[in-house]
Amino acid sequence: MLLSRLKDMLKLILAYSMYLTGILHLYKKLILRGKAVVIMYHRVLTSDEAERTYSHEAIIVNDKLFEKQLAFLKKHFNVIDAIEFVHTIQSGSSFENAACLITFDDGWIDNYLNAYPLLNKYGVSAVIFLSTDYIGYKGLFWQERVRRQLNKMYEIVEEDHGELKRFRETLAEVDLDYLLGLPKNRRKQEIERQISDMKALSADERNVLLNVLDSTRGRNTRDQTVDRFLDWEQVQEMTTDGIQFCPHGASHLILKGVSAVEVRAEVNSAREVIRSRLGVPTLMFSYPNGEFDDNAIDILKEQDVHYAFTANRGFIRKGSCILTLPRINIHDSNSKNMPMFLCTILGII
Ligand SMILES: [Zn+2]
Repeated sequence: MLLSRLKDMLKLILAYSMYLTGILHLYKKLILRGKAVVIMYHRVLTSDEAERTYSHEAIIVNDKLFEKQLAFLKKHFNVIDAIEFVHTIQSGSSFENAACLITFDDGWIDNYLNAYPLLNKYGVSAVIFLSTDYIGYKGLFWQERVRRQLNKMYEIVEEDHGELKRFRETLAEVDLDYLLGLPKNRRKQEIERQISDMKALSADERNVLLNVLDSTRGRNTRDQTVDRFLDWEQVQEMTTDGIQFCPHGASHLILKGVSAVEVRAEVNSAREVIRSRLGVPTLMFSYPNGEFDDNAIDILKEQDVHYAFTANRGFIRKGSCILTLPRINIHDSNSKNMPMFLCTILGII
């Protein structure tokens, strides 16, 4: 704990000294010559919403910080839209003046409520990659559902020890009863470990676990609207202001290690829904969880998807593989001030 705090402090000192001496801007100029960076956001939440969300902190940026980042990108980068991005690659040209494309994954409600007004205010465009099954859906994504149910269970047990036995029996069905015996300081980490393991399950296997967790339902009625997704009216409204929408799969199935049939179904269903709702074809795609394999790439090629984004760090230059394009994931803790934001974009810390 102490060591990681010390590390953070050193990073901050390093970031500020490189920033204030101008070294960082010089480095940016050199390293980004002819290249583009693609920023990957997920959620932009107010402080109040951040208190209520069950999303992981690695996909959240505070709305005030997001505004500072937009102002910074406008000032120090050449923020381009999807059309210019595609045009530059298609024409075989190099990118100019530290080109930057802003993207969002998943299609969260806050993209409309918090990010969209700021994108308009600063006159910048963005691409939002939608997991189309969730657009207009009023429930929770499975990861938020797991965090919600388990946290709720801990709250209930704290108030009413009588429930402990019932929960223990229920969770024993799926070998998760050990979670009830964990000390407070290990719960969060263990829930995340479980979620990480659950990513590798098929939807059916995962649903068995989710249904067991749901059966621990109790009195907790914490508002869950914060973790909702966009609806099609909001998507349509944003389209009129130049926000582009492209697929991020249909169900957010991870496309690594799954059959060609499954990849094809996810890609086609998502593209078809967007095409029929918005009346435009989609040439871009972002891999759920940023994960892919050769099979997924082959299917995208077969389906005529031209550009696909991963979550691997890096820059894009003339000749980059356009079906494994890198992006820089931005969240509160790797971008809490502008020196750190720039360091993260440049891959320094
Ligand atoms: Zn995603």
